[in-house]
Amino acid sequence: MELKLYDTLTREKRAFKPLDPGNVRMYVCGPTVYDFAHIGNARPVIVFDVLFRLLRHLYGADHVTYVRNITDVDDKINARAAEEYPNSPLNEAIRKVTEKTDKRFHEDVAALGCLPPTHEPRATEHIAEMKTLIERLIANGNAYVAEDNVLFSVRSMPDYGKLAKRSLDEMIAGARVEVAPYKRDPMDFILWKPSKSGEPAWPSPAGIKTPGRPGWHIECSAMSWKYLGEMFDIHGGGIDLVFPHHEDEIAQSRCAFHTPVMANYWMHNGFLQVEGAKMSKSEGNFVTIHELLKDWPGEVIRLAMLRTHYRQPIDWTIRGLEESAKALDAWYAFIGEVTPAEQPDQTFLESLCDDLNSPQAIARLHQMAHPPVAGLAMAGATMSGDRTGVEAQRYLKSSAMTVGLLWKTASQHQAASIAAASIDTVAVESLIAARNAARKEKNFSAADRIRGDLEKMGVVLKDTKDGTTWEIAR
Ligand code: AMP
Ligand code: ZN
Repeated sequence: MELKLYDTLTREKRAFKPLDPGNVRMYVCGPTVYDFAHIGNARPVIVFDVLFRLLRHLYGADHVTYVRNITDVDDKINARAAEEYPNSPLNEAIRKVTEKTDKRFHEDVAALGCLPPTHEPRATEHIAEMKTLIERLIANGNAYVAEDNVLFSVRSMPDYGKLAKRSLDEMIAGARVEVAPYKRDPMDFILWKPSKSGEPAWPSPAGIKTPGRPGWHIECSAMSWKYLGEMFDIHGGGIDLVFPHHEDEIAQSRCAFHTPVMANYWMHNGFLQVEGAKMSKSEGNFVTIHELLKDWPGEVIRLAMLRTHYRQPIDWTIRGLEESAKALDAWYAFIGEVTPAEQPDQTFLESLCDDLNSPQAIARLHQMAHPPVAGLAMAGATMSGDRTGVEAQRYLKSSAMTVGLLWKTASQHQAASIAAASIDTVAVESLIAARNAARKEKNFSAADRIRGDLEKMGVVLKDTKDGTTWEIAR
């Protein structure tokens, strides 16, 4: 099956051909660890986890290397550390902030069903590699020292701006940044800068005496080089990173190694907004993954994210979560406790291979869980596409599992839903017992009242010939 991916650099969907099928290599820009990750940050993590899983399926689990970095040196981290721990030395405060945030990030994304990447390198542990790159860029005539800074000279690279599809002159005209007097060109960007007093600092490269710290872009060039080599297959991140971050990564890596490309496919997820508005703390619509996980199982959040194609913008709504929860309830009810089939459904896989068309793949899951021929369903057959009975259930499970869904059993899903809805199961069971007693005594008004109380708790009753069962109201 042929995988096709949309490449931001060439602006076209192309057949994916890895440099080395024995080691498919992908790099995705990871979080800056200074605060709880928000639901927008979860988007690239989920989207590229789906691609990681798909590549593992197509090339073999041992033949894919996925690197996602952790940015643990940044002005936002310094500011947060000084604010949160005013009485600690800054270095210690920074360590506390990054350790805490890093731990929360990993808990959050694990709950969203994301596999750990092969490597998760931290910027502060790769300063030596960054300095090596910086020295090379200076030696190659692509970077210069000015007032204890090292800057990349954009004029030294003829096709700077190719990813963003903008010429240097257009960029300069559009730039609103204050231009530092030591820059040769307004678009030149920082590779290394002197640290202010108290800030994290390392011995500087290029004979600079003042201790300093790296710029943001150089960390990704250094860490992708270390773990994936001078050229690799896929580079990903949110659409906001195209310029300047990815443009500058390309400039650094290509000029350091004299390579025609840094990565062969550049993939960018669209932005996420909340209930129709840009997410911001001042708007009061800032949603952290951590907060969402208190009300929804991680799997519901994951499905809600994948209902939109990764390149489209997403409007994140409660309604989308409710619909996803309903779909998962139905699918789990359909599969019960079956073991997955050996392979996923072919049509499902074809959708994924078409530039990760997850909405189409999910439509196929719905189709697989619902018998398209009414007559057969009435005859009692469990039917899914061209499969029936247990086979249909097993293929739904194996297909969904390829994208990190339906990996639980039906009873585990129910337990997770009950926990997320904060339903007190002991209280529910005792109310059901009280209602059964009232019904036995033919006190139907009391029985109805109890049913109403349960509905207010978010519980729907189902009376069957074998007794009363209950489920979460959706
Ligand atoms: P940051 O920590 O801000 O560098 O962001 C980490 C990742 O999340 C980057 O790939 C961003 O492009 C992505 N990202 C941040 N905000 C959003 C959003 N609202 N929607 C989608 N992706 C986002
Ligand atoms: Zn990056």
